[in-house]
Amino acid sequence: MARFKRILLKLSGESLMGKQGFGIDPERLSDYAQQIKEVAEMGVQIGIVIGGGNIFRGLSGSQKGFDRVKGDQMGMCATVINSLALSSALGAIGVKNKVLTAIRMEPIGEFYTKWKAIEAMEQGQVCIFSAGTGSPYFTTDTGSSLRGIEIEADVMLKGTRVDGIYTADPEKDPTATKFNDITYKEVLARGLKVMDLTAICMCQDNNLPIYVFNMDIVGNLKKVMAGEEIGTLVHN
Ligand code: UDP
Repeated sequence: MARFKRILLKLSGESLMGKQGFGIDPERLSDYAQQIKEVAEMGVQIGIVIGGGNIFRGLSGSQKGFDRVKGDQMGMCATVINSLALSSALGAIGVKNKVLTAIRMEPIGEFYTKWKAIEAMEQGQVCIFSAGTGSPYFTTDTGSSLRGIEIEADVMLKGTRVDGIYTADPEKDPTATKFNDITYKEVLARGLKVMDLTAICMCQDNNLPIYVFNMDIVGNLKKVMAGEEIGTLVHN
C-alpha cells in the first residue's frame, strides 16, 4: 500500500544535468522515469513539476544583462523542454502521461486546468505541469506548491540531491544534523533553505506537507511511498 494517494513530485532541472555540466543527461532522465514508473504501478496518482535551472534561470540571466521578464520567460520555456524530455522517457517505458502547460502552446502540451489534470490522473496518466506558474518572478518551487494545492495532492515530494533537511549545509558543516520532521514555522525561524519563501508560505497557508528526500538514489521514490523514513517531512 502506498503512503499517499496523490502526489506532486518536484524535480529540479539542475539534477537532470547528472554528470554533465549542462542540459539533460539521458541516464539521469531514464533513472527518474524508471522510479516514477515503479510508483505509478503502485496505483499512486502522480503530478510532476520539473525546473529549468539546467538550461536557463531568469534571475541569473538578468545579472548578465537579459531583461528579467524575458529571462523568466526563457526559464519557463526551459521547464517545457525538460517536461517534454521526461514525457518522452516515460512514454518509452510504457508510462502513460501528458504534458500540461501554464502558457498556451498547443500542440506541445495542453493548456493546464485543474480539472483536466485531475481527470487524467484519475485515469492513470502521469501529469507533467510545465512552464511553472506562467508568470515571471516566480520559481518552479512556487509552481509546485501552486499545482500541489490545486490538484489536492496529499503531499509535495521534493526530490533533491541531499537526503533531507539539516541544521546547516551538510556539505559545508560536518556537525550538521538531519531533521526527521520539522514545522514550517521552524523552517522559517531558522532560515533553512528548503524552498523559496513564497513556496513555503503557500504550503503552510494551505496545509500541504512537503517531504524532502534524495531522488538521485534509484529506488528512493518507491521507498518514500512505501513509508520508509528516508527524508524530512515539513508540516504545520
Ligand atoms: N520561472 C518563472 N516563473 C515560474 C517558474 C519558473 O519565471 O512560475 C522561470 C525562472 O526564470 C526560473 C526558471 O524559470 O529561474 C527555471 O525554474 P527554476 O529556477 O525554479 O528551476 P530549478 O531551479 O528547479 O531547476
